Amino acid sequence: MLGIVKGLGFTLKNLAKKKVTYSYPDQPVEMPDRFRGIQHFYPEKCIVCNQCAAICPTDCIQLTGKPHPDPNNKKKIIDTYDINFEICILCDLCTEVCPTEAIVMSNNFELSSYSRDDLFKDLQWLHENTDSTREVNKP
Ligand code: SF4
Ligand code: SF4
Repeated sequence: MLGIVKGLGFTLKNLAKKKVTYSYPDQPVEMPDRFRGIQHFYPEKCIVCNQCAAICPTDCIQLTGKPHPDPNNKKKIIDTYDINFEICILCDLCTEVCPTEAIVMSNNFELSSYSRDDLFKDLQWLHENTDSTREVNKP
């Protein structure tokens, strides 16, 4: 009997307290600034150096470059950039190694899907994934 009263007392005491849980997904969850979420890609910053693909421990980055449209410019520009999120472990190494910050982590973590094919993300998708993009130089 004493146990029931104690339990009821605890419940009543906590009824008026502020909730610590979220009604996810109806209410978005704020992730901390250093959260390592799905990458955002800036094609215009990419110099096609291949360092991100080389350092990736799971080999999930595929990229190709093409010659610059200006024949006097010997630099390559990015043509295709794909990440396979079936095997990406969001380790952050690709963004750490990128010399131009063409690839950066974001706060977006929502990748659930009914099809594995949806987990292959291309340049366009990664560029449009701007949800709370975390750039190294951001104040
Ligand atoms: S976060 Fe890690 S596993 Fe994912 S693409 Fe970058 S280096 Fe590869
Ligand atoms: S994203 Fe960065 S590391 Fe990867 S190829 Fe482009 S410039 Fe190089």
